[in-house]
Amino acid sequence: MLARSGILTSVDGETVAVENASAGGAILLVCEHASAHLPAAVGTLGLSSEALSSHIAWDPGALALCRLLSAKLDATIIHQRFSRLVYDCNRPPESPAAMPEKSEIYEIPGNKDLSVAERYARTAAIYVPFHDRISAELARRTAGERGSVLVTVHSFTPVYFGKPRAVEIGILHDTDSRLADAILEGAAKTGRFRVERNSPYGPEDGVTHTLRLHALPAGHANVMIEVRNDLIANSVDQEVMADYLAGLIADAVSVVGGQ
Ligand SMILES: [Zn+2]
Repeated sequence: MLARSGILTSVDGETVAVENASAGGAILLVCEHASAHLPAAVGTLGLSSEALSSHIAWDPGALALCRLLSAKLDATIIHQRFSRLVYDCNRPPESPAAMPEKSEIYEIPGNKDLSVAERYARTAAIYVPFHDRISAELARRTAGERGSVLVTVHSFTPVYFGKPRAVEIGILHDTDSRLADAILEGAAKTGRFRVERNSPYGPEDGVTHTLRLHALPAGHANVMIEVRNDLIANSVDQEVMADYLAGLIADAVSVVGGQ
């Protein structure tokens, strides 16, 4: 029996959102953890409202930051409309973290002992259309002889397992570090925020899935940016951060170029 096979219903709307679709710049902004929203069919996954609005459900501030970057960099945004608690689109279907049974200190009852059919239904409804949309956008640009630079935007919690994190901005990369190197070089010159390479996560944690899937095979310059969420908690701070990052990204792209 295909339990919960109708993971998305008519009340849920589309899986993928595209904003500033007619932007002409080389950069494509992707936000996998933009939303804390859950499909009606999964209810609350057995979680409290506190957990459902916390960083385990989404990346607070990341989509707002993306929107400001989109305007400053003339960049299209593709973002996921559902919480990573139902499917974490920065993880492949075979990863236990794609539909986590535990996230930081929270057990997720609604993700315990999912059947193969349930995992398949979530993958088909949430993960596949999201990554198909990114692939289609990159293919469209390549067909039009237009270069692409993939920038994924995330936020992280300032306190993890009770431990404060000192890093303020993480510049993450996989095997292609061209864009990350150029951004880190620019950041070192400003000395403004505490900016670190592959921190607080790195490729060894499996967080470069989107980069590996879409940028590495085609040779598109790419980077994953992680901002500590207390630095983008309100619109004033988001604007400051967007100005700072847009400058760094634009300078770095002018060095590395789009492919
Ligand atoms: Zn994230």
